[in-house]
Amino acid sequence: MILKGKNAIVTGASRGIGKEVSLVLANQGANIILVDIDESALQATAKEIETKGVKTLCVTADVCQMADGEKIASETQKTFGRIDILVNNAGITRDNLILRMKEDEWDKVLAVNLKGIFNCTKAVARYMLKQRAGKIVNIASIIGIGGNAGQSNYAASKGGAIAFTKSAAKEFASRNINVNAVAPGFIQTAMTDNLKEEVRKEMQSRIPLTRLGTVQDVANAVLFLVSPAADYVTGHTIVVDGGLAM
Ligand code: NAP
Repeated sequence: MILKGKNAIVTGASRGIGKEVSLVLANQGANIILVDIDESALQATAKEIETKGVKTLCVTADVCQMADGEKIASETQKTFGRIDILVNNAGITRDNLILRMKEDEWDKVLAVNLKGIFNCTKAVARYMLKQRAGKIVNIASIIGIGGNAGQSNYAASKGGAIAFTKSAAKEFASRNINVNAVAPGFIQTAMTDNLKEEVRKEMQSRIPLTRLGTVQDVANAVLFLVSPAADYVTGHTIVVDGGLAM
């Protein structure tokens, strides 16, 4: 129970990687503040997490909105009295080739994946700076490191997330706040379930560890970064991709 009594905010918590991160942190004793735009899915996930014997708070919010970032932080502070952990996980894809990409596809992906991280970090950091303690983890992607045809918007948002992570780490380091990123590779979730079978097979054939990643693989890296074991790690990006980007 290395996170007993800690309070952890997880965005995009109702399913996929965010749900698993919430479960893994709850398994270690953390109370979970679940954030998502889908209220009914949030409630169902919260019920599952409460079976671990921790407290939960559901906050229906759109991370693109700065006011929602502030709502997430203030409701957490009001309910639990402090914020120890923020996992910026909410993310979307709107894939298209550059010449076909609509302005809205570009704007929406940057708004959720990058501005969302800024909004939540800014709101939560206010409290963490006063506490002189905190752990922030941003979920990036290997696409943000290596790029991908048809995903220029997503790659820009995730590359931006990695650069933001380093800047925030430098800004907050003197106040004992660690900011790191996790860059997953090809993980089995709803986001990747939509891919055509031949695309999936081709991707899998390029993964040295010969399998797709699981949500647990990603959640375990997040757990390390928010735990005391990573107290001396900041500004870093852990790649969880079975060796794909190597
Ligand atoms: P997912 O299954 O689609 O889950 C994303 C969650 O974020 C959903 O619950 C979604 O809510 C929520 N969300 C979307 N927009 C939001 C907003 N504006 N405000 C609040 N919540 C919002 O995705 P995933 O595969 O678990 O991915 C999680 C993170 O990992 C993302 O940042 C993604 O880019 C990253 N990642 C995933 C993979 C992969 O292979 N799956 C690889 C690399 C990186 P709704 O259910 O209402 O849409």
